Amino acid sequence: GLLDAACRPDDGDPDIQSLRPECLTDYVGQREVVDTLKIAIEAALFRKEPLEHVLFHGPPGLGKTTLAHIIAREMGGRLTVTSGPAMEKGGDLIGILTHLEEGDILFIDEIHRTPKAVEEFLYPAMEDFAVDFVFDKGIHARSHRYRLNRFTLVGATTRVGLLSAPLRDRFGLLRSLDFYDTADLVRIIERSAAILDVTIDEAGAKSLALRSRGTPRIVNRLLKRVRDYAQVRGDGHISGDTVESALTLEGVDGKGLTGLDRRYLKTIIDYYHGGPVGIEAIAATLQEETDTLVDVVEPFLLKIGLVMRTSSGRKASEEAYRHLGYAIQHKLF
Ligand code: ATP
Repeated sequence: GLLDAACRPDDGDPDIQSLRPECLTDYVGQREVVDTLKIAIEAALFRKEPLEHVLFHGPPGLGKTTLAHIIAREMGGRLTVTSGPAMEKGGDLIGILTHLEEGDILFIDEIHRTPKAVEEFLYPAMEDFAVDFVFDKGIHARSHRYRLNRFTLVGATTRVGLLSAPLRDRFGLLRSLDFYDTADLVRIIERSAAILDVTIDEAGAKSLALRSRGTPRIVNRLLKRVRDYAQVRGDGHISGDTVESALTLEGVDGKGLTGLDRRYLKTIIDYYHGGPVGIEAIAATLQEETDTLVDVVEPFLLKIGLVMRTSSGRKASEEAYRHLGYAIQHKLF
């Protein structure tokens, strides 16, 4: 249909290998998100209108930025990328908005970190495609409305709960991205391996998938490390054993946990008797940012049941003790 006709892969520099899928049909997994987008994009193309504003939420590395690129390509618009914290003043956003052409896509990553003063300019921009300038103050205040070209805002956030209601309500499509299952990760690995021109057998792909925390960004990063290892220590081919040796060297264990994940769990267990303990206390003990723990570390540990969130704080599960090799007979769960 319209969708397939519109999406033409970039025939840019062939020396720059991109693992990023360029069309919706190449995007693995996230069935619901993809199906919703397919319908919305096809309908918008049919009506010759810009796509409604889209908000993606979910942990980092699951492909939100990738989807913004794909939407721009499928809609045939240009993509402008910024992030909430990168915009300090209203003027930063206005400069971007006034340069958008009809049908362009504006991607705002970490949109929950947009300063309030900037966010106020987003409301009329999203709703009426307009910017309201206010001159002077008090009784002399005058406002002037500047028309924008109709564009699509694609927002991404790791914490939808921190988004203000007026901002959230201005998105037509809200979709959450979840961790990928092993079968999807294996498909991504096979695709990436082909692009990187490296061979990997079934056991290797499965083992890599199981150690990638359900996250395509991690899959691709670890695949490159394993490729290096296979080329230097082996014959270049990736097997289950190659993955195991290479990732042990990287500090990634059988469940995909990294050093930081393990330190986080050990802090709860060693310093706070397994919890419950507040996230601020864990962050202080680890000397890490609370945001890093909440956005990057915890979602996957919660997902696989190594940590639990209770009203009084975080608790390590019995499985966490077992995974880290603690004796558990004296603990009550
Ligand atoms: P987010 O914005 O959610 O943090 P992201 O889109 O920035 O994530 P990337 O860093 O772009 O995530 O993703 C890492 C890599 O994972 C990309 O290069 C892309 O190749 C790959 N990738 C992400 N999602 C998919 C997918 N559904 N299918 C295939 N590859 C994917």
